[in-house]
Amino acid sequence: MTEILPWQHKILEHLTGLRDQAQLPHALLFSGMQGTGKQQFAHVFAQAVLCQQPVTGSAACGTCASCKLFLAGTHPDFSAITVLEDKKYISIDQIRMLSEKLSLKSHFQGYKVVVLGPAERMNRAAANSLLKTLEEPSGPTLIMLVTDRAGYLLPTIRSRCQAVAFPRPDAPGALEWLQSTLSAEELQQHKAQVYLDLAQGAPLRALALAKGKLVDKRQFFINQLNELLDGQQDAITAAKPWKKEDVPNNLNWMMSWVSDMLRLKFAPDSPLSYNKDILHILQGLALRTNASDLFKFLDRLAHSARMSEGQINQQLLLEDALICWSRLFSKQARIH
Ligand SMILES: [Zn+2]
Repeated sequence: MTEILPWQHKILEHLTGLRDQAQLPHALLFSGMQGTGKQQFAHVFAQAVLCQQPVTGSAACGTCASCKLFLAGTHPDFSAITVLEDKKYISIDQIRMLSEKLSLKSHFQGYKVVVLGPAERMNRAAANSLLKTLEEPSGPTLIMLVTDRAGYLLPTIRSRCQAVAFPRPDAPGALEWLQSTLSAEELQQHKAQVYLDLAQGAPLRALALAKGKLVDKRQFFINQLNELLDGQQDAITAAKPWKKEDVPNNLNWMMSWVSDMLRLKFAPDSPLSYNKDILHILQGLALRTNASDLFKFLDRLAHSARMSEGQINQQLLLEDALICWSRLFSKQARIH
């Protein structure tokens, strides 16, 4: 968790510069697409701020008492706040406990540091409670909020943070990193480029795909859709094997397929962004319907994907998407 990723050096340089000049703001907002390593970076920088012998222009020393405690996960001036297991949101109780801790003196007479993410998962009460802490931190405090969806945060929260945008690495850099990170066995099974395309260029998401066997799940889902269109399976049966944590992925895959079909309709010569491996299938399906219906379906899927993050029956969401899929692409369509 404490490795700096190759495409983050500029951001580290900028922030350690602020640290070295004692110009760090109270709150930073790390935003950018999922899978670019924002959380990981926040932990690296937390250690750099807590370190007792920081190296100018660099991260932490790794050997001082503070660094040792941080690496052991027991630093008393560091807090990591995230969604608790089996919960959907960061609660007001978590924020109250954090505020209490932040009102105490620092154990090391230095900074108190917080990493909070995904920040968009604070419910409204929690976000309002955090506002007070952001306004009047007691003593040197650095709160790093991490989000894939900065637009979902309260504007009052955003306006109290200094924004730091996390870009994706360029395509060759992302590929080089992923190839050096995957084991030889994992590389043999699927090419690193396929993972990167599926992850829309976000290296850590590509790595999660490779490790989580998500590519196999995606293929299974594609086979199911195929059977659905052939009339060998119905939507209810097809939705059954998917657990509730799988459903947001399934909906996102369908969205990316429909997006690529639209791209094929409007710019047939442009390279597909996400699903190069099933190009011929998507071409066939795109011919079976019109752009207007594809846009409507995309809206519906996006709505379902948002709903899937709340307390709703996931199976029903997926069934609905599968029924729409069958209607839209009719029986003669086929996808492998
Ligand atoms: Zn240190």
